[in-house]
Amino acid sequence: MNNKNVFCENCRKDVNYVEKEEYMSAELKGETYNYYGKTATCDDCHNEIYVSEINDYNLIKLYNAFRKQHNIISLEKILEIPQKYSIGKRPLSLLMGWGEQTFTRYCDGDMPTKQYSEILKNIYEDPNYYLSILEANKNNLKSQSSYEKSKSATLTILGIDQISETSKIDVTTNYLLCKCEDITPLALQKLLYYVQGFYYAFTNCFIFEENCEAWVHGPVYRNVYFKYKGYSFDPIKCDDLETDITIPSLEKTIIDSVIKNLSGYSGKTLEAFTHLETPWLVTRGDLPILVNTDREINRQLISNYFTNVKQKYNMLNPSDISEYSKVMFERISL
Ligand SMILES: [Zn+2]
Repeated sequence: MNNKNVFCENCRKDVNYVEKEEYMSAELKGETYNYYGKTATCDDCHNEIYVSEINDYNLIKLYNAFRKQHNIISLEKILEIPQKYSIGKRPLSLLMGWGEQTFTRYCDGDMPTKQYSEILKNIYEDPNYYLSILEANKNNLKSQSSYEKSKSATLTILGIDQISETSKIDVTTNYLLCKCEDITPLALQKLLYYVQGFYYAFTNCFIFEENCEAWVHGPVYRNVYFKYKGYSFDPIKCDDLETDITIPSLEKTIIDSVIKNLSGYSGKTLEAFTHLETPWLVTRGDLPILVNTDREINRQLISNYFTNVKQKYNMLNPSDISEYSKVMFERISL
Protein backbone atom coordinates (compact mmCIF):
# COMPACT_ATOMS: atom_id res chain seq x y z
CA MET A 1 0.00 0.00 0.00
CA ASN A 2 1.06 3.53 -0.63
CA ASN A 3 -0.33 6.77 0.72
CA LYS A 4 1.11 9.19 -1.76
CA ASN A 5 -1.50 11.10 -3.69
CA VAL A 6 -1.36 11.08 -7.46
CA PHE A 7 -3.80 12.35 -10.05
CA CYS A 8 -5.88 9.63 -11.72
CA GLU A 9 -6.99 10.54 -15.28
CA ASN A 10 -9.92 8.18 -15.00
CA CYS A 11 -11.26 9.32 -11.62
CA ARG A 12 -10.30 12.96 -12.33
CA LYS A 13 -8.97 13.47 -8.84
CA ASP A 14 -6.01 12.77 -6.57
CA VAL A 15 -6.05 9.17 -5.43
CA ASN A 16 -3.97 6.70 -3.46
CA TYR A 17 -2.21 4.06 -5.49
CA VAL A 18 -0.86 0.54 -5.10
CA GLU A 19 2.58 -0.44 -6.34
CA LYS A 20 3.23 -3.86 -7.79
CA GLU A 21 6.40 -5.43 -9.11
CA GLU A 22 6.04 -6.77 -12.64
CA TYR A 23 8.19 -8.47 -15.24
CA MET A 24 8.23 -6.13 -18.24
CA SER A 25 10.02 -5.54 -21.47
CA ALA A 26 10.93 -2.40 -23.37
CA GLU A 27 12.97 -1.36 -26.36
CA LEU A 28 16.19 0.60 -26.20
CA LYS A 29 18.38 1.40 -29.19
CA GLY A 30 16.57 -1.14 -31.32
CA GLU A 31 16.77 -4.08 -28.93
CA THR A 32 14.30 -5.48 -26.44
CA TYR A 33 15.21 -5.89 -22.77
CA ASN A 34 13.35 -7.66 -19.98
CA TYR A 35 13.47 -6.50 -16.39
CA TYR A 36 11.50 -6.34 -13.16
CA GLY A 37 9.85 -2.95 -12.97
CA LYS A 38 6.87 -1.54 -11.11
CA THR A 39 3.35 -0.52 -12.00
CA ALA A 40 0.97 1.71 -10.09
CA THR A 41 -2.78 1.21 -10.01
CA CYS A 42 -5.40 3.60 -8.74
CA ASP A 43 -6.86 2.51 -5.42
CA ASP A 44 -10.36 3.57 -6.50
CA CYS A 45 -10.79 2.50 -10.14
CA HIS A 46 -7.88 0.03 -10.36
CA ASN A 47 -6.68 1.47 -13.65
CA GLU A 48 -2.97 1.83 -14.17
CA ILE A 49 -1.80 5.39 -13.47
CA TYR A 50 1.30 7.39 -14.27
CA VAL A 51 3.60 8.08 -11.34
CA SER A 52 6.79 9.88 -12.26
CA GLU A 53 8.91 8.20 -9.53
CA ILE A 54 7.83 4.79 -10.79
CA ASN A 55 8.56 5.82 -14.36
CA ASP A 56 12.07 6.87 -13.28
CA TYR A 57 12.47 3.61 -11.40
CA ASN A 58 11.53 1.58 -14.48
CA LEU A 59 13.93 3.57 -16.66
CA ILE A 60 16.75 2.80 -14.25
CA LYS A 61 15.81 -0.89 -14.37
CA LEU A 62 15.73 -0.83 -18.18
CA TYR A 63 19.08 0.92 -18.33
CA ASN A 64 20.48 -1.60 -15.86
CA ALA A 65 19.33 -4.44 -18.13
CA PHE A 66 21.03 -2.70 -21.04
CA ARG A 67 24.20 -2.18 -18.99
CA LYS A 68 24.24 -5.83 -17.96
CA GLN A 69 23.78 -7.04 -21.53
CA HIS A 70 26.54 -4.79 -22.86
CA ASN A 71 28.86 -5.12 -19.88
CA ILE A 72 28.65 -1.42 -19.02
CA ILE A 73 29.51 -0.36 -15.47
CA SER A 74 26.45 -0.11 -13.19
CA LEU A 75 25.10 3.19 -11.93
CA GLU A 76 25.67 2.06 -8.32
CA LYS A 77 29.37 1.59 -8.98
CA ILE A 78 29.61 4.93 -10.77
CA LEU A 79 28.03 6.64 -7.77
CA GLU A 80 30.41 4.88 -5.41
CA ILE A 81 33.57 6.12 -7.14
CA PRO A 82 33.60 9.75 -5.87
CA GLN A 83 32.71 8.52 -2.39
CA LYS A 84 35.39 5.84 -2.39
CA TYR A 85 38.19 8.14 -3.49
CA SER A 86 36.88 11.30 -1.87
CA ILE A 87 36.86 13.30 -5.07
CA GLY A 88 34.15 15.56 -6.52
CA LYS A 89 32.36 14.67 -9.75
CA ARG A 90 33.74 17.62 -11.65
CA PRO A 91 37.32 17.21 -10.39
CA LEU A 92 37.13 13.57 -11.43
CA SER A 93 36.17 14.56 -14.99
CA LEU A 94 39.04 17.04 -15.07
CA LEU A 95 41.43 14.44 -13.74
CA MET A 96 40.46 12.10 -16.55
CA GLY A 97 40.84 14.84 -19.15
CA TRP A 98 37.12 14.51 -19.99
CA GLY A 99 34.58 17.27 -20.48
CA GLU A 100 33.95 18.96 -17.15
CA GLN A 101 30.37 17.65 -16.86
CA THR A 102 30.97 14.16 -18.24
CA PHE A 103 31.17 12.26 -14.97
CA THR A 104 28.31 14.28 -13.48
CA ARG A 105 26.11 13.20 -16.39
CA TYR A 106 27.05 9.56 -15.75
CA CYS A 107 26.02 10.02 -12.12
CA ASP A 108 22.67 11.34 -13.33
CA GLY A 109 22.15 8.10 -15.24
CA ASP A 110 23.65 8.80 -18.65
CA MET A 111 25.19 5.74 -20.25
CA PRO A 112 28.98 5.85 -20.61
CA THR A 113 30.54 4.70 -23.85
CA LYS A 114 32.11 1.26 -23.79
CA GLN A 115 35.59 2.82 -23.67
CA TYR A 116 34.84 5.15 -20.75
CA SER A 117 32.97 2.36 -19.01
CA GLU A 118 36.10 0.18 -19.07
CA ILE A 119 38.16 3.00 -17.59
CA LEU A 120 35.58 3.58 -14.85
CA LYS A 121 35.48 -0.13 -14.05
CA ASN A 122 39.26 -0.16 -13.66
CA ILE A 123 39.09 2.86 -11.40
CA TYR A 124 36.36 1.27 -9.32
CA GLU A 125 38.17 -2.06 -8.95
CA ASP A 126 41.75 -0.92 -8.59
CA PRO A 127 42.83 1.87 -6.20
CA ASN A 128 46.40 1.60 -7.53
CA TYR A 129 45.18 2.38 -11.02
CA TYR A 130 43.24 5.36 -9.71
CA LEU A 131 46.27 6.56 -7.75
CA SER A 132 48.44 6.44 -10.89
CA ILE A 133 45.92 8.62 -12.75
CA LEU A 134 45.69 10.99 -9.78
CA GLU A 135 49.47 11.41 -9.69
CA ALA A 136 49.89 11.75 -13.44
CA ASN A 137 47.08 14.28 -13.93
CA LYS A 138 47.01 16.18 -10.64
CA ASN A 139 47.78 19.43 -12.48
CA ASN A 140 44.38 19.19 -14.16
CA LEU A 141 42.74 19.76 -10.77
CA LYS A 142 41.82 23.27 -9.77
CA SER A 143 42.81 22.91 -6.14
CA GLN A 144 45.70 21.29 -4.34
CA SER A 145 43.40 20.31 -1.50
CA SER A 146 41.20 18.09 -3.72
CA TYR A 147 44.36 16.29 -4.75
CA GLU A 148 45.52 15.84 -1.17
CA LYS A 149 42.14 14.75 0.13
CA SER A 150 41.73 12.18 -2.61
CA LYS A 151 45.26 10.89 -2.28
CA SER A 152 44.86 10.43 1.45
CA ALA A 153 41.57 8.54 0.96
CA THR A 154 43.16 6.28 -1.66
CA LEU A 155 46.21 5.51 0.49
CA THR A 156 43.89 4.57 3.33
CA ILE A 157 42.06 2.09 1.10
CA LEU A 158 45.41 0.66 0.09
CA GLY A 159 46.23 0.21 3.77
CA ILE A 160 49.15 2.61 3.67
CA ASP A 161 49.29 4.32 7.05
CA GLN A 162 49.98 7.99 6.82
CA ILE A 163 50.20 8.75 10.51
CA SER A 164 52.68 6.74 12.49
CA GLU A 165 51.39 7.73 15.90
CA THR A 166 48.13 6.05 16.87
CA SER A 167 45.53 8.77 16.79
CA LYS A 168 42.89 9.43 19.41
CA ILE A 169 40.13 8.13 17.18
CA ASP A 170 41.95 4.79 16.81
CA VAL A 171 42.42 4.49 20.55
CA THR A 172 38.74 5.28 21.13
CA THR A 173 37.71 2.83 18.41
CA ASN A 174 39.76 0.05 19.99
CA TYR A 175 38.32 0.83 23.39
CA LEU A 176 34.74 0.75 22.05
CA LEU A 177 35.37 -2.53 20.24
CA CYS A 178 36.77 -4.12 23.38
CA LYS A 179 34.01 -2.88 25.69
CA CYS A 180 30.96 -3.45 23.49
CA GLU A 181 29.80 -6.82 22.33
CA ASP A 182 28.44 -7.29 18.83
CA ILE A 183 29.28 -3.88 17.51
CA THR A 184 28.77 -3.43 13.76
CA PRO A 185 30.59 -0.86 11.62
CA LEU A 186 27.36 1.18 11.49
CA ALA A 187 26.99 1.23 15.30
CA LEU A 188 30.70 1.99 15.75
CA GLN A 189 30.42 5.09 13.57
CA LYS A 190 27.50 6.41 15.57
CA LEU A 191 29.19 5.78 18.93
CA LEU A 192 32.31 7.63 17.75
CA TYR A 193 30.09 10.51 16.72
CA TYR A 194 28.40 10.63 20.15
CA VAL A 195 31.76 10.43 21.89
CA GLN A 196 32.91 13.43 19.83
CA GLY A 197 29.70 15.36 20.53
CA PHE A 198 29.33 14.68 24.25
CA TYR A 199 33.04 15.07 24.87
CA TYR A 200 32.73 18.56 23.47
CA ALA A 201 29.62 19.28 25.52
CA PHE A 202 31.41 18.41 28.76
CA THR A 203 34.88 19.80 28.02
CA ASN A 204 34.51 22.49 25.34
CA CYS A 205 37.06 20.75 23.18
CA PHE A 206 36.98 17.98 20.64
CA ILE A 207 38.45 14.60 21.33
CA PHE A 208 39.22 13.73 17.66
CA GLU A 209 41.01 15.72 15.01
CA GLU A 210 39.06 13.93 12.30
CA ASN A 211 35.86 15.34 10.86
CA CYS A 212 32.93 13.11 10.00
CA GLU A 213 30.93 13.24 6.79
CA ALA A 214 27.15 13.30 6.34
CA TRP A 215 26.66 9.97 4.60
CA VAL A 216 23.34 8.40 3.77
CA HIS A 217 23.29 6.31 6.97
CA GLY A 218 24.38 9.11 9.29
CA PRO A 219 27.73 10.63 10.27
CA VAL A 220 30.77 8.63 9.16
CA TYR A 221 34.48 8.88 9.95
CA ARG A 222 35.87 7.94 6.58
CA ASN A 223 39.14 6.25 7.62
CA VAL A 224 37.42 4.16 10.26
CA TYR A 225 34.80 3.18 7.69
CA PHE A 226 37.33 1.82 5.24
CA LYS A 227 39.22 0.03 7.98
CA TYR A 228 36.20 -2.07 9.00
CA LYS A 229 34.22 -2.04 5.75
CA GLY A 230 34.83 -5.78 5.28
CA TYR A 231 32.55 -6.61 8.24
CA SER A 232 29.61 -5.12 6.39
CA PHE A 233 26.57 -5.74 8.67
CA ASP A 234 28.37 -8.19 10.94
CA PRO A 235 29.82 -7.41 14.35
CA ILE A 236 33.50 -6.47 14.26
CA LYS A 237 35.68 -9.15 15.84
CA CYS A 238 38.27 -7.82 18.22
CA ASP A 239 40.52 -10.83 18.88
CA ASP A 240 43.72 -9.14 17.80
CA LEU A 241 43.08 -5.84 19.56
CA GLU A 242 45.14 -4.46 22.37
CA THR A 243 42.96 -4.90 25.41
CA ASP A 244 45.22 -2.94 27.68
CA ILE A 245 44.18 0.54 26.62
CA THR A 246 45.01 3.54 28.73
CA ILE A 247 42.70 6.48 28.42
CA PRO A 248 42.72 9.64 30.59
CA SER A 249 40.00 9.43 33.21
CA LEU A 250 37.70 12.21 31.98
CA GLU A 251 37.72 10.75 28.48
CA LYS A 252 37.06 7.33 29.92
CA THR A 253 34.11 8.60 31.96
CA ILE A 254 32.50 10.15 28.90
CA ILE A 255 33.18 7.21 26.59
CA ASP A 256 31.90 4.78 29.24
CA SER A 257 28.70 6.77 29.55
CA VAL A 258 28.21 6.75 25.77
CA ILE A 259 28.73 2.97 25.87
CA LYS A 260 26.33 2.52 28.78
CA ASN A 261 23.57 4.71 27.34
CA LEU A 262 23.87 4.27 23.61
CA SER A 263 25.69 1.06 22.71
CA GLY A 264 22.63 -1.02 23.66
CA TYR A 265 20.82 0.30 20.60
CA SER A 266 21.38 -1.22 17.17
CA GLY A 267 23.30 0.61 14.49
CA LYS A 268 20.00 1.21 12.65
CA THR A 269 18.41 2.76 15.75
CA LEU A 270 21.40 5.02 16.32
CA GLU A 271 21.28 5.95 12.64
CA ALA A 272 17.67 7.01 13.15
CA PHE A 273 18.75 9.17 16.13
CA THR A 274 21.36 10.97 14.02
CA HIS A 275 18.83 11.53 11.25
CA LEU A 276 16.83 13.68 13.69
CA GLU A 277 19.82 15.75 14.74
CA THR A 278 20.80 19.15 13.37
CA PRO A 279 24.44 18.48 12.39
CA TRP A 280 23.58 15.71 9.92
CA LEU A 281 20.35 17.36 8.73
CA VAL A 282 21.90 20.76 8.09
CA THR A 283 24.92 19.28 6.32
CA ARG A 284 22.74 17.17 4.03
CA GLY A 285 20.54 20.20 3.27
CA ASP A 286 18.14 19.25 0.51
CA LEU A 287 20.16 16.30 -0.79
CA PRO A 288 17.79 13.44 -1.59
CA ILE A 289 17.80 10.68 1.07
CA LEU A 290 19.78 8.10 -0.87
CA VAL A 291 22.35 10.37 -2.48
CA ASN A 292 25.95 9.82 -1.42
CA THR A 293 28.05 12.77 -0.38
CA ASP A 294 31.42 13.41 1.19
CA ARG A 295 30.33 16.71 2.73
CA GLU A 296 32.01 17.15 6.08
CA ILE A 297 29.84 17.97 9.06
CA ASN A 298 31.13 21.30 10.27
CA ARG A 299 32.53 21.04 13.81
CA GLN A 300 30.66 24.13 14.84
CA LEU A 301 27.39 22.31 14.14
CA ILE A 302 28.45 19.46 16.41
CA SER A 303 29.69 21.71 19.20
CA ASN A 304 26.55 23.88 19.11
CA TYR A 305 24.19 20.95 18.96
CA PHE A 306 25.69 18.96 21.83
CA THR A 307 26.22 22.04 23.96
CA ASN A 308 22.52 22.77 23.57
CA VAL A 309 21.61 19.17 24.37
CA LYS A 310 23.64 19.35 27.56
CA GLN A 311 21.83 22.54 28.61
CA LYS A 312 18.38 21.41 27.56
CA TYR A 313 18.61 18.15 29.52
CA ASN A 314 20.34 19.80 32.47
CA MET A 315 23.21 17.39 32.25
CA LEU A 316 25.56 17.92 35.16
CA ASN A 317 27.83 14.97 34.56
CA PRO A 318 28.41 12.45 31.75
CA SER A 319 26.09 9.82 33.23
CA ASP A 320 23.18 12.18 32.46
CA ILE A 321 23.48 11.24 28.80
CA SER A 322 20.85 8.61 29.68
CA GLU A 323 18.13 11.30 29.57
CA TYR A 324 18.99 12.13 25.99
CA SER A 325 19.10 8.56 24.75
CA LYS A 326 15.73 7.79 26.34
CA VAL A 327 14.07 10.78 24.70
CA MET A 328 15.61 10.00 21.31
CA PHE A 329 14.41 6.42 21.52
CA GLU A 330 10.89 7.59 22.34
CA ARG A 331 10.97 10.02 19.42
CA ILE A 332 11.91 7.39 16.86
CA SER A 333 9.42 4.89 18.32
CA LEU A 334 6.44 7.21 17.82
ZN1 LIG B 1 -8.82 6.00 -10.65
